[in-house]
Amino acid sequence: MSIHAYAAAGPGKPLEPFSFEPGPLGPHEIEIGITHCGICHSDIHMIDNDWGWSSYPLVPGHEVVGIVREAGAEVRRLSAGQRVGVGWQSGSCLECEWCLSGRENCCARQQGTIVGRHGGFADALRVDERFAFPLPEAIESSLAGPLLCGGVTVYSPLREDARPWFRVGVVGIGGLGHLAIQFARAFGCEVTAFSTSAGKRAEALELGAHEFVVSTDAGRMKAAAGSLDLLLSATTARLDWQAWVGLLRPRGILTIVGASPGALDVEAGAILTGQKTVRGSLIGGRARLAEMLDFAARSGVRPRVEVVPMREVNPAIAKVRQNRARYRMVLEA
Ligand code: NAP
Ligand code: ZN
Repeated sequence: MSIHAYAAAGPGKPLEPFSFEPGPLGPHEIEIGITHCGICHSDIHMIDNDWGWSSYPLVPGHEVVGIVREAGAEVRRLSAGQRVGVGWQSGSCLECEWCLSGRENCCARQQGTIVGRHGGFADALRVDERFAFPLPEAIESSLAGPLLCGGVTVYSPLREDARPWFRVGVVGIGGLGHLAIQFARAFGCEVTAFSTSAGKRAEALELGAHEFVVSTDAGRMKAAAGSLDLLLSATTARLDWQAWVGLLRPRGILTIVGASPGALDVEAGAILTGQKTVRGSLIGGRARLAEMLDFAARSGVRPRVEVVPMREVNPAIAKVRQNRARYRMVLEA
């Protein structure tokens, strides 16, 4: 049976209806009938070939939610009728030291849901069952997608480094950032949201931020110098990294999850003094993703979404490009 999807024919192109035959179902694969799919900014980087490894026609979509409708011969964990989600990662070797220690996101053979294969802006997705996650009942389908990529991407580094007594900053209050505020708050941290959009203040505070700083306000930025134990950058913009490192306290950590363009221009002296750390983080392993879903279900962390029919995918993408999404666009099949 054909899968009906939306695909970009080339870099930066609008999405158009596109159908393909998936072929026989692999022994470890499931076929998911998609109900919802979030639009992550990584979908847009991929449409635009920002990272140089997009292949076309490109079907974006890696915050996939749906119902299992077929299971391959070797599938044991999941069965038809189950509600599941799939995030950025759809495969890994499952044998290396990273996979065995729950860090499949560090595996040299990791596969992306939309890298060289068709993603979730479609009516169905085929995926290895080991990268599909049963969804907690408490999380409704329209809200689950953004947790599967955006959620785990911010949960994972906070889980690793944040402590309840930490002062945590979040830069870029978009799909990832608005979830980071909620997780950091749920972990008991004091949270400051840094945004270029003054209009996001009230919502950032509602989501759990103790403070909101407009990052173009030089006076407020100066006052925040040396104040943070952990700073999570979830912006798509290029930052003056040296200036942001200046917001850290001694032993503070700047963790970059946003795919900002350009080089990290930080002088050695800026991180030697105060023994600071600058690090990156990529999604999260399978155990972390499952844990995050359970924690979100119990703690009430939920994305704020705008749900639109899948056929309105192009205006929805335009909204994300223009930084007008509040805070995640979700396509409904
Ligand atoms: P998003 O919803 O579009 O949010 C990005 C935010 O960045 C915006 O809301 C805005 O926040 C800020 N921003 C955008 N343009 C800006 C500009 N010109 N100047 C300053 N700030 C700007 O994107 P997202 O889905 O959260 O993704 C954010 C980044 O994370 C993307 O690069 C994405 O590819 C990456 N990502 C990484 C991983 C990973 O595993 N590391 C996983 C998922 C996504 P303010 O209005 O508050 O300034
Ligand atoms: Zn993503």
